Amino acid sequence: MHEHAHGRQHLETMIRNQDLDGLLNQAETLHGHLCPFVGLGVKAGQYAMAALNRANTGMEEVVAIVECNNCFTDGIQMVTGCTFGNNALIFRDLGKTAVTVARREDGQAVRLIVRPDYRDNLMARYPTAGPLFQKIVVERQGVPEEIHHFHHLWAAISRRELQTPLEEQFHIQHLTITMPAYARIFDSLLCSACGEQIMASRVVESQGQTLCRVCAGGKVPVLNGQGIGQECL
Ligand SMILES: [Zn+2]
Ligand SMILES: [Zn+2]
Repeated sequence: MHEHAHGRQHLETMIRNQDLDGLLNQAETLHGHLCPFVGLGVKAGQYAMAALNRANTGMEEVVAIVECNNCFTDGIQMVTGCTFGNNALIFRDLGKTAVTVARREDGQAVRLIVRPDYRDNLMARYPTAGPLFQKIVVERQGVPEEIHHFHHLWAAISRRELQTPLEEQFHIQHLTITMPAYARIFDSLLCSACGEQIMASRVVESQGQTLCRVCAGGKVPVLNGQGIGQECL
């Protein structure tokens, strides 16, 4: 009987076969480009998922705790299947390029943190990349040919770096953690000012009124490129 591959089966096969190139292609569809740090996320995710040997159907069988929001995180989301939407991605706002991947049944976990010397080693291996990165990504300058050249170079480096031994890129810790509780399903309530529906955990009760945070006039926490902070428009 022909069985149609469903869910994450094709990713699980790539994880088992250590098909880092295939996984990186998948991550590109989420991340939008190829860069060394999305590649590192792919490698960390593959290593952790292979070590924990647990299929993830997006029901919190596996949880990924990331410590920063950057390119690395998208490699993690694609390979582990732990995402913002399925509540299996937990964000600890530490600003470290690190992840802990843990399995539900026993809290067995792997934490990988990028070595502090990795970035300098990378730039030393590819001396033309550093100045281009500074100009195009950091300063957001450069003429179109330069930008085009940089994206090709950066993608080629991300593929080549898949071959670098994991221990040269990461410190790896095997540990057991206390698993975070399953995400709760909350009731929805109506804001009595704007009439929009709100998850009960985010309701503000004020003078007998049920309000959303906007109508209550408070500052709303946001996650942006700086990490978690207060909304500032
Ligand atoms: Zn990137
Ligand atoms: Zn409202």
